Amino acid sequence: MSIHSLTGAHVAGSLFLAGLLTAGCTSTHHDHDHAGHAGHTGRYTTTPPPPPLPPQQDALAPEGYEDTPVIRGQKWKVHDKTRPVPAVVASGATFSHGAPPPSDAKVLLGGTDLNSWQLDNGKPAPWKLIDGFMEVEPKSGSIRTREEFGDCQLHLEFATPILVEGKSQGRGNSGIYFHGKFETQILDSYQNRSYADGQVGALYGQWPPLANPVKGPGQWNSYDIVFEAPRFDASGTLTRPAYLTVFLNGVVLHNRKELNGPTNHRATDVYKAYSGRGPISLQDHGNRTRFRNIWIRRIGEYN
Ligand code: MG
Repeated sequence: MSIHSLTGAHVAGSLFLAGLLTAGCTSTHHDHDHAGHAGHTGRYTTTPPPPPLPPQQDALAPEGYEDTPVIRGQKWKVHDKTRPVPAVVASGATFSHGAPPPSDAKVLLGGTDLNSWQLDNGKPAPWKLIDGFMEVEPKSGSIRTREEFGDCQLHLEFATPILVEGKSQGRGNSGIYFHGKFETQILDSYQNRSYADGQVGALYGQWPPLANPVKGPGQWNSYDIVFEAPRFDASGTLTRPAYLTVFLNGVVLHNRKELNGPTNHRATDVYKAYSGRGPISLQDHGNRTRFRNIWIRRIGEYN
């Protein structure tokens, strides 16, 4: 996207950032979106004011690939550089930001500890807890929940780094992995050109999101996701694929979208039988993405 094709959302976001700069970056801009929610004392905007967004990097950013396999069941290649990217949508100021957990939810991140999380090797999660939110500690490793889940409803809030560094997939990258296999992408897709099936909200390498409602660097986004685990029969044959339904900032990105196997980088993958249960993992992709207010509900079958 060139600077000349900025949408209203991008312009509004730029004005917002400019406003922070001139306002001395007080915390009031964000207080409203988690007022009254205990545990969310984080003030992301107490960090130094953000610099203006860098010049557009379209000419330099990798836009995708031509040498990858075709996605099974689709006409596009994995990370296809010719696949259209989703349209930018200006979401509301808040949606489920600060949503208190329902009574039957398991709180995975309330803002006081990282006890629900661990490294894959079982050691304590080494990410930082700062003023009520959790921040990726780059190169320390991805983290996963200690508990396992099957079908589930997940609420999660994230903010990509307020300091814009890198480009394309190197900018504000993280991700939510269901059962360690199926990634819903987290990326700073704000004025950041990258391939369609790697945008924020992509079911990575398979399905681009239906829209791009991401907020700018340093601003909180809210994810509400329903994950349906795949099913296998006694012989290990797939009887039902995994599905994901995803809302980002109140905008539907996927409506019970079917996955053709685990998500992967530059490759396709096939289902291999497993229990249909697993942890929720958050990706360390080397960027200091922040998280707050994560809770999960187990969901069952209809009677
Ligand atoms: Mg990722």
